[in-house]
Amino acid sequence: MAIGEQLQQIKRTLAPANVTLIAVSKTQSVAAIREAYEAGQRRFGESRPQALCEKAAQLPADIEWHFIGHLQTNKVKLVTGLAHTIHSGDSPKLLRALNDEAGRRRHIQRCLLQVHIAQEAAKFGFMPDALRRLSAEGFFTTLPHLQIAGLMGMATFTDNMSQIRAEFRMLRRLFTEVKQTTFSDNPAFCERSMGMSGDYTIAVEEGSTMIRIGTLLFTH
Ligand SMILES: *Cc1c(COP(=O)(O)O)cnc(C)c1O
Repeated sequence: MAIGEQLQQIKRTLAPANVTLIAVSKTQSVAAIREAYEAGQRRFGESRPQALCEKAAQLPADIEWHFIGHLQTNKVKLVTGLAHTIHSGDSPKLLRALNDEAGRRRHIQRCLLQVHIAQEAAKFGFMPDALRRLSAEGFFTTLPHLQIAGLMGMATFTDNMSQIRAEFRMLRRLFTEVKQTTFSDNPAFCERSMGMSGDYTIAVEEGSTMIRIGTLLFTH
């Protein structure tokens, strides 16, 4: 199926929920991204700083880039200001580096806090209790050049639908909790970035506001 048709099909399933679709283009060529752009898609997700820079330089300026991969602190210069939203704020050290880089540029960088919700060891993200502790300590109020706009999580790669649902539900509950305890006077804290090609329908049922879809969109 062509990218345009695939886009329409995914959007039909999302229509009632008002969910933002991020087209994950991390393994795609500039030509494939352009095809999706011409079909109307404007939000794309990249996971490597260098690739983001190279692709952004070759593609229209009205694309809204989302950075979704693990970001090393020595790469924050490449991504700050270029990415509309960084989904992968996964450590105090990285958030501090992003805040400082944004400050140097007089920019407010929008980013999400990535939470480790999966039962897999290898993925990045704050453990829920670490996030609660940092919230309670007031850490997130010490980053004036970041707009912290919500949480991101990835479910375990499994066929067990009830496990996936439970993980998304945990992220949703954690969102509500830290919204109340820490971000109640911050209307920008509103996003739950959860759901990929294999599990986005469950994520939407569990309150996702942004889904990140690669394979389903580009593989045909
Ligand atoms: C690759 C990737 C996706 C997209 O995964 P698909 O299964 O191809 O839809 C979404 N989120 C993150 C963080 C990714 O790295």
